[in-house]
Amino acid sequence: MAQSGQHSWLLQNMHYTPKSGLAVTVHGHGVKVAARGMGHIHAHGARYDLDSFHFHSPGEHTRYGAGPFAEMHAVHKHSVTKQILVLGVQFNMHYPKSSEIISTVLARGVPRGHQTIRSGRIDLGRFLKTAFRKGFFHYTGSLTTPPCTEGVLWYIADEMQWVSQSQVDDLSCAAPANLDFRSVHPLHGRTVTWYHQMR
Ligand SMILES: [Zn+2]
Repeated sequence: MAQSGQHSWLLQNMHYTPKSGLAVTVHGHGVKVAARGMGHIHAHGARYDLDSFHFHSPGEHTRYGAGPFAEMHAVHKHSVTKQILVLGVQFNMHYPKSSEIISTVLARGVPRGHQTIRSGRIDLGRFLKTAFRKGFFHYTGSLTTPPCTEGVLWYIADEMQWVSQSQVDDLSCAAPANLDFRSVHPLHGRTVTWYHQMR
């Protein structure tokens, strides 16, 4: 079931400051970037502070029967209720295109094991506003990895971004695909709302 509506409110409610030298680590199921204090988003009358963002390869949200090559999740938390809001962006491959944000995250190398690498200058607001400009899907679900917390607000950008083969290799070598992934999200009668650009 899908409903449509205006999407620009989400873009207007994104507030992030570009930052350099963020800590990049391997964390469970992906390459994680610590981003506390970098920004927040207002949604449904509440403020959610950015905590971190991470990249998985392959992506988790299946579309058109095939998963994307990589997926980015920007994890936000409500300071009081601790409710989680995730902005998700998917990446496909189209030679010779590559992802500027992944290059910046891995500008000083790919973390291995317990290593921490410092990122280049990351303009997360510009990246997210570009990815979400044409619309997004929204639903309430759970985290895709254990503990699979319920009640997570998901927003998945409509427009795919590009990633190169070597970037996918870097992401998947740092954090090999984890069998704890739930492969597909059953919707169980959940309402998925599609916000898109008005033509
Ligand atoms: Zn994730």
